[in-house]
Amino acid sequence: MATTFSFTSLFHKCKSMKQFKQAHTQLIINGLTHPPPSFRPVISFSALDPSGDIDYALLLLFQPSTPPTIFIFNTVIRGLARANRPDSLSGSLLVFDRMVELNLTPNNFTFTFLFQACSNSAAFDLGRQFHSMVVKNSFENDVFVRNSIIQFYSVSGKLDDAKLVFDESAELDVVSWNSLINGYLRNGNILEALNLFRKMPHRNDISWNSLLGGLVKFNYLDEAYRVFMEMPSRNLVSWVVMVSGYAQHNRPKEALVLFREMQALDQKPNSAILVSVLSACSQLGALDHGNWVHSYILKKHMNIDSILSAALIDMYAKCGSINLAMQVFSSSRKKDVSTYTAAISGLAMNGQSNEALQLFEQMKGEGISPDSISYIAVLCACSHIGCVEKGFRYFDSMLEVHGIRPKLDHYACTVDLLGRAGLLDDAEKFIASMPIKPDDIIWGALLSACRVHGNAEMGQRVGNLLIESDQTHDGRYVVLSNIYAESMKREEAEEVRKAMRRRKINRVPGCSLIEVDGVVHEFFAGDRSHEKADKIYLVWQEIVRELKNFGYKAETRGVVFDVEEEEKEAIIGYHSEKLAVAFGLICTKPGSMLRIVKNIRICNDCHSAIKLVSKVFKRKIAVRDRKRFHHFEEGVLLLHGLLVTKLNF
Ligand code: ZN
Repeated sequence: MATTFSFTSLFHKCKSMKQFKQAHTQLIINGLTHPPPSFRPVISFSALDPSGDIDYALLLLFQPSTPPTIFIFNTVIRGLARANRPDSLSGSLLVFDRMVELNLTPNNFTFTFLFQACSNSAAFDLGRQFHSMVVKNSFENDVFVRNSIIQFYSVSGKLDDAKLVFDESAELDVVSWNSLINGYLRNGNILEALNLFRKMPHRNDISWNSLLGGLVKFNYLDEAYRVFMEMPSRNLVSWVVMVSGYAQHNRPKEALVLFREMQALDQKPNSAILVSVLSACSQLGALDHGNWVHSYILKKHMNIDSILSAALIDMYAKCGSINLAMQVFSSSRKKDVSTYTAAISGLAMNGQSNEALQLFEQMKGEGISPDSISYIAVLCACSHIGCVEKGFRYFDSMLEVHGIRPKLDHYACTVDLLGRAGLLDDAEKFIASMPIKPDDIIWGALLSACRVHGNAEMGQRVGNLLIESDQTHDGRYVVLSNIYAESMKREEAEEVRKAMRRRKINRVPGCSLIEVDGVVHEFFAGDRSHEKADKIYLVWQEIVRELKNFGYKAETRGVVFDVEEEEKEAIIGYHSEKLAVAFGLICTKPGSMLRIVKNIRICNDCHSAIKLVSKVFKRKIAVRDRKRFHHFEEGVLLLHGLLVTKLNF
């Protein structure tokens, strides 16, 4: 007959539930069900092993033949807490009640695991009852129990209770400190978290990284960077947190700088960090950087999972290289909803809305259910091509077919869809019928549509409503004053401008980025800070002179300042994207493509000027503004030798 020892080692070798059950059968056949030492590995494996089965452990536990030892009961509660299922807490309570029934006295481990279960299920009242039991049973000085109580109160957001337990503890270890600090971080009380952190006698990697994570989460990026620099040693987690923090909070340049530092230190990136770096590249339109990341992934034979492939597709699409994006899509071995969605929104953004809708249908045909983000992409695509009816069919199918409740983003896309199609009254009715309160983005979409379609009456109404609700948003004042100006209400337009000045609202400056030889250059409207500024301005003036020969006339409709036509021309004459185009023409090889990313919408004048530049100078130009790409590519070439020579300095 097999010995207990050999059974224990046998169970440890099990790699699947199937193997395990076979071993268990052997155990029963050999009549070894009862002695506790051989029963322990059975329960441990099913309750705790990643390939185990907690339900099986529960089943065994309630068999009359099961030996009632505290270890076995604790193990099952621990397994339930770890499984973190909806029924984890009720299961733990069932086990606990059974323990009491069998007159088994709970020990310190029992309470530690029960608090974990309560933390996971946010069961505050129950946790408090267990806390009283702990005090009654004099377990409060046990360091594991105490830490799990601190953790429990922290997770429940009861920081005062957590602090009380912490303060009353005779002995604190690094876990106690980490738990309390994490509680403050989770609740956004950064100051208190920092205070405690500074007082900590010993810190481990977890202490540093969680502080870093908390600061990043609440967008205290500068403070986070100081902590990052102060860390005695930075591991991969620290780099991931910091780089992705910059990428998530719209500071892509810093994300790339830090990533370069990381490489200089020979710290190997993982897939999570590359996803963030790719997102930073997308934000900057930095195709060279993005390309580099892609080559790196291929060179290192890294596994391209669906998240990474979606990030690559998104990067190429947002850098205006939809063909490369689609190549990544085609070569993705396992396509899931995120892979498809990245490709669908990439196509829509790059003006290939019909292809986007086709791909959406293909995805559903493959049996992949769309998610909430896929629908945003689809509604955008419908909006770009003015397919109102189709858009509404998709909108309705969200809930009806796929059980996805439309969120504010979906409503905003639909308002945009109606607005672009000029169905302003329908858009307003649609907003009125919304089951959730429309936000400023939705009203903003209607306001833009009013301006585009010249509905001054509705525009004024919506514009004033928006300014009342948020007095700090510069764009609303600008659109409203333009609506007034365009309907020849100069005084009202000036009133809006005055209100803006009175409330000290500064306009978000238009900013354009262009990457040349792996360096991202930034331009603001009328900005002369670039080292080649003199040349750039000179060249743009030359370009304009040339464009005028091809019929270009500055479009000053959008400028409402009380100025003469000539001055208006000067104001829009140096919009950031024009400076970026001039710089691009100076610094890149003739015939190569220019890719520009702009933070706000491209104005009519820049649009027509750049379109003509593309034609006259034989360049493909892609400008991405806040919403989408404008691809300029004119087949007809009218080359002016003199100017081209001048540009190639
Ligand atoms: Zn412009």
